[in-house]
Amino acid sequence: KEAHLPAGKTVDTFAFDAVPMISRAQVMALCAGDGWLEQGANLILFGPPGGGKTHLASAIGLALVENGWRVLFTRTSDLVQRLQVARRELALESALAKLDKYHLLVLDDFAYVSRDQAETSVLFELISARYERRSLLITANQPFGEWNRVFPDPAMTLAAVDRLVHHATIFEMNVESYRRKTAETRRSGP
Ligand code: ADP
Ligand code: MG
Repeated sequence: KEAHLPAGKTVDTFAFDAVPMISRAQVMALCAGDGWLEQGANLILFGPPGGGKTHLASAIGLALVENGWRVLFTRTSDLVQRLQVARRELALESALAKLDKYHLLVLDDFAYVSRDQAETSVLFELISARYERRSLLITANQPFGEWNRVFPDPAMTLAAVDRLVHHATIFEMNVESYRRKTAETRRSGP
């Protein structure tokens, strides 16, 4: 079942011509899930706000669910909060084990984790636990260089990024905000 996937954000409603650096064929291959989900490989979507990261992440997640894979979609800070509660209750390990049932965990807005949340390393433990076993799909407005806010210290950031990118497809969606673009088109339209 598709856990918490935003409605209406599908591959069919995604305009691929707005992101020329990404091909539909490449996305369709990811939507099949074979290969990368079996290997626990990751997908990372970078780009400025409004560029379509959440839409594309949802679209891929939904297609994977339709193809029989188990997917959980969550905002990164919500999941961090849940895992921190689990840690306080000395149940982090079992909380992480429960997430194992999902072939793919979509962590939307990865770099929005607050300083306060970064003080504990639940996100690092999640990344380590899934490494080479279960996949992550991460969206982020900030490049790796600015992920220090997400983890307690720079060494941990480095170790986390190292594991994430070891087997990963990375899309750099450096496009204009789709929202702004469509708003302008409407204004200057026929
Ligand atoms: P981001 O997560 O990168 O900030 P979103 O995915 O939330 O951006 O996109 C902002 C809005 O624009 C959403 O309503 C989304 O559906 C729409 N959008 C963005 N890119 C596209 C696209 N290529 N085709 C269709 N709609 C898009
Ligand atoms: Mg988003």
